[in-house]
Amino acid sequence: MNTSTTRTAATAAACAAALLLAGCGGGDEAAGASGGLTVVAGFYPLQWAAERVGGDRVDVSSLTPPGAEAHDLELAPQDVAAVGEADLLVYLDGFQPALDEAARSEAGDAAWDAGAAADLIAGEHTDGDHTDGEHADAEPAHGDEPVDPHFWLDPVRLAAVGDALAGELGELDPDGAATFEQNAAALRADLEALDAEMQTGLAGCAVDTLVTSHDAFGYLAGRYGLEVVGISGLSPSQEPNPAQLAEISTLVRELGVTTVYTETLVDPAVAETVAEEAGVRTAVLDPLEGLTDDEAGADYLSVMRDNLTTLQDGQDCS
Ligand SMILES: [Zn+2]
Repeated sequence: MNTSTTRTAATAAACAAALLLAGCGGGDEAAGASGGLTVVAGFYPLQWAAERVGGDRVDVSSLTPPGAEAHDLELAPQDVAAVGEADLLVYLDGFQPALDEAARSEAGDAAWDAGAAADLIAGEHTDGDHTDGEHADAEPAHGDEPVDPHFWLDPVRLAAVGDALAGELGELDPDGAATFEQNAAALRADLEALDAEMQTGLAGCAVDTLVTSHDAFGYLAGRYGLEVVGISGLSPSQEPNPAQLAEISTLVRELGVTTVYTETLVDPAVAETVAEEAGVRTAVLDPLEGLTDDEAGADYLSVMRDNLTTLQDGQDCS
């Protein structure tokens, strides 16, 4: 009881101090007066979705700097402080362990797990074998297969996250609720147009096995009728052993794969080895875990369209 009283008093004091700056659960007035909600996103696609849905009413920053590998995000003290101060932390539980920890210790109720709206499924089941997307707590969806975090490579899933984000922002800034809904609808329209292009563009491919650097493209493959073989696991740091590499090279030859994909932010050496051993070429796919420095002017939609062009060529699509 004593502890609880102390904590309550401390919280009240913290809120009193914070009110001077930005408001402390203080509703719409505080949010509007400070120029908008402060949203901190874990990595690029979440940042992009938050910017699209929040529009002028939010101020979005990303914790993963351009060109950095998102899985292995490390947080500087000022990043941890930003997480603690954000009106909303948009993160993906199970994807960036350092941020999962900061979300629990610093963000409290301001932490919002995008995975809850993304219908996450286990890594090896990209065929529509849905499990409950209620709360994918880095726990195996079934058996001991890890949950695949890379939902944003399926535009339909990203649209669902945009809709959910509009609801979340609307609770924090009720005056903006209608705007957030409109923005999310516009985002959904863009993503559905992209989805339609990808459905058409990948409908008639001679090769339906997709061999990629790490296992990031399961949701994309599942959506468009491809099978994915990741040379590394669900994280680029899970490197394959020589036996697994030999197995993948054999698979590449047997399935008539003509292109092995390297990635923008992952060392291409391992994928290049597989391609060389199998006597096929390489091409670069972007798993959109972050934009690189030379992708200025690009956004989620343009990079996905580049990916589509790369895939149509690499999978021999008519
Ligand atoms: Zn990844």
